[in-house]
Amino acid sequence: MSYKNFPMVPRVIFGRGSFNQLSDILTPKRLGINAPFIFLVDDVFKSNSWLTSRIPLSYEDIIIYISAAEEPKTDQIDILVEEIIVNSKERPSGIIGIGGGTLLDIAKAVSIMLTNEGKAEDYQGWDLVKNEAIYHVGIPTISGTGAEVSRTTVLTGPERKLGINSDFTPFDQVVLDSELTKDVPKNQWFYTGMDCYIHCIESLQGTYLNAFSQSYGDMALELCKEIFLGDDLTNIEAQEKLMMASWHGGMSIVYSQVGVAHAMSYGLSYLLGTKHGIGNCIVFNHLDEFYPEGVKLFKEMKVKHDILLPQGICTDLSDKEFDIMIDVALNLVPLWENALGKNWKKTITRKKLKLLYKKM
Ligand code: NAD
Ligand code: ZN
Repeated sequence: MSYKNFPMVPRVIFGRGSFNQLSDILTPKRLGINAPFIFLVDDVFKSNSWLTSRIPLSYEDIIIYISAAEEPKTDQIDILVEEIIVNSKERPSGIIGIGGGTLLDIAKAVSIMLTNEGKAEDYQGWDLVKNEAIYHVGIPTISGTGAEVSRTTVLTGPERKLGINSDFTPFDQVVLDSELTKDVPKNQWFYTGMDCYIHCIESLQGTYLNAFSQSYGDMALELCKEIFLGDDLTNIEAQEKLMMASWHGGMSIVYSQVGVAHAMSYGLSYLLGTKHGIGNCIVFNHLDEFYPEGVKLFKEMKVKHDILLPQGICTDLSDKEFDIMIDVALNLVPLWENALGKNWKKTITRKKLKLLYKKM
């Protein structure tokens, strides 16, 4: 038995208003006046001076606003990297991602592709990255994905939706300032928060479970129950706790895996462009067979927060389209193995997945 030796985020600052310290954090990392910091910022903040006026720009530093309407694509990363290389006199001092999982993943991928040759799609997979990424910082503005701690950046390429999983992917620095999440719309808060809840259930119910994953998963699950089912938290407490739940949920899957909801949601995302948080909710809602307790609580949370999930998104699909989704889902072997064990193929057939998708 050989155990994996995983890197972790080496530096984290936590606290309401800690975003104000960004300049102190970045200044020692500047490589020169011609080596800019590049801020990749969710364009939802474009005219939000409360946030943008506190981004510490000097010398050649720039802000690039990016829409999170679609999940990151490999060719989008290639174009961004090209743009940054053409416009900077020297290799940047660092990449700072400000936003949700979408912007955090884009920042990770760009920082890797600035020091590695070829295209982003060449690195989708496990441990294909050769050179250390440039310094990169993650600043989440919505909580749940765990992208701030994870060792992957999930990209949709021409062939597949798959992460760049590598020791160089995790951030060098994370800034956890829950105040940045204060204006997240309620539905989106629920969908991305449920990503964290589903990470916990899939990790804790998985066959890969071990004490490392369980300890983080238990903590995150307790926090999710407090946040989504309790009545005792102030808004600020709930925002801070969800930030920590996201962190711990992400840590839990470092040493285990996600499961059925994620495998099937990747299929939806690949074919229909359904986004991660809402896609996981749409799938998880029908997984009582695999996660009875988890789905029961999920339904209670949905009712408590008046969330109506889209229905019938697969109604008009052709057989060919079902096949595409099923192929994407079935390719994620470690997820199925974690969910159902080595003999997962006995339970999971193409017919079974098609029946499940048809319910969604
Ligand atoms: P997101 O980044 O896609 O953002 C969702 C929506 O919320 C967007 O419209 C965005 O503009 C808005 N938003 C974000 N912060 C806001 C704020 N403070 N105020 C108002 N609106 C705000 O959402 P997400 O759910 O965090 O991320 C999903 C992405 O994360 C997917 O691309 C998924 O593949 C990826 N993901 C990555 C990992 C990983 O480990 N790398 C894990 C899970 C998911
Ligand atoms: Zn997820």
